[in-house]
Amino acid sequence: MGHLDSTHLMGKLISGNHLESISLHKRDHLTGLGNRLLLDEILENWQPNSPEVSSLAVIMIDLDRFKKVIDALGHSAGDTLLKLVAQRIMSVVQEPDTVVRMGGDVFVVAHPIGLKSMSTEWVAKRIVELMHRPFLVDGQQVNISASIGIAALNHGTDTITDLLKHAEFALYKAKGTHQGAIRLFEPELAFQAMNRYSLEIDLRRALVLKEFILLYQPQVNMTDGSLQGFEALIRWQNPARGLISPLDFIPLTEDTGEIHAIGEWILHTACKEAMSWDGNFSVGVNVSPIQFESEGIVNIVSSVLATTGLPPERLELEITEGVLIKDFANVLKQLWALKSMGVGIAMDDFGTGYSSLSYLNSFPFSKIKIDQSFVRGESYPKSRALLQAIISLGGSLDIVTIAEGVETQDQYDQLAADGCLGAQGYLISVPMPTTSIRDFISDFKKTHVSD
Ligand code: C2E
Ligand code: MG
Ligand code: MG
Repeated sequence: MGHLDSTHLMGKLISGNHLESISLHKRDHLTGLGNRLLLDEILENWQPNSPEVSSLAVIMIDLDRFKKVIDALGHSAGDTLLKLVAQRIMSVVQEPDTVVRMGGDVFVVAHPIGLKSMSTEWVAKRIVELMHRPFLVDGQQVNISASIGIAALNHGTDTITDLLKHAEFALYKAKGTHQGAIRLFEPELAFQAMNRYSLEIDLRRALVLKEFILLYQPQVNMTDGSLQGFEALIRWQNPARGLISPLDFIPLTEDTGEIHAIGEWILHTACKEAMSWDGNFSVGVNVSPIQFESEGIVNIVSSVLATTGLPPERLELEITEGVLIKDFANVLKQLWALKSMGVGIAMDDFGTGYSSLSYLNSFPFSKIKIDQSFVRGESYPKSRALLQAIISLGGSLDIVTIAEGVETQDQYDQLAADGCLGAQGYLISVPMPTTSIRDFISDFKKTHVSD
């Protein structure tokens, strides 16, 4: 029988991580720490055994950028890093804390709170600090960081069975804040997680239930006032929730991976509907960075063009700078493949990212869409210099510039004076369903016939 017969656990935690005392099946073989089974056992058997120990906290640690390390240096370097991380965490904790690796790059410290123990926040902060320091892996310096979620009994968590789940909610929230963030669980987080969960469930059914629609917003050529094309913008119409903005559900579909199926539907629908319009107008389709991860996008676009019959020149994919931050070479390869098919590529929300401008040279975009923050609002006077710089950059690289979010005639005139080539925004029209496009086009022709 191993040393850790559960009767030994009654009333106390396993002290520290005495490797020799952890039976093999409760040990994480890579790091020598405990594993999930050990943690389960500790939680199941935990009860405060003395006036000095009043509560139990669970500190859940998740490494930021771990996948990048594996991508760059390989799995064996990843393993080495995990061992070093385990050692650093162990150097922070004291008996009777226990450290386990839950799997992947997630670690948990079970931390009894008592008179003599260090505060939970202190332990968490110290771990974050140590993770920020460079690691030396196979002779290479590796920089990572860690985010932490904490849940503690009697601090918003009433039962031991909820501790891990609550720490996970807090961790999820921390991850959404910034790298190296520490977040304590509070009941509001459980509420948010429940909401998110129910949204996820509804979203999973939305495609089958045909709850998505595409609206189209016109783009005009400012040099001659002609209509250029339309950008497809998705909406989710849920009977119970009403009309939901893409900003509120696209990120969720990116997390769950559903963006692949939905993205394919968007492409197919936009191309099919564009075929029904009266004229050779282009159709802009927003593509999420996630859709470039699987390398399937090129095949999807080519099969959608084949089945709908839309000429490739009429399709313009809108990507954001986020696409180019990830796996630059791989994304570039796909963009070139799309371009060689004749499809246009627009850089969306230009000026909001923080990537270098050099990518403008690595890939010949057909269009730069200047973000609306430069065009509208109080910041406009200050933004004007930047706006002019972007327009002239586009001019010298021979890339069409179009301003987004044009709402007033003043903005339009200003942009035209600055040499911007295209405009899109409420001034021209709000996004409309495909069924309204026929009327829009004929009205537009009537009012612009003398231009
Ligand atoms: P985006 O691609 O930059 O789209 C422009 C957004 O600005 C749209 O918001 C549009 O309705 C809005 N807009 C247009 N003109 C004006 C204006 O004059 N003033 C103001 N204040 N806003 C204007 P929307 O439709 O809510 O879409 C938001 C974002 O969601 C889009 O930004 C795009 O990033 C994403 N998105 C929309 N549709 C799709 C889609 O089909 N697939 C993917 N992956 N993302 C999409
Ligand atoms: Mg767009
Ligand atoms: Mg945009």
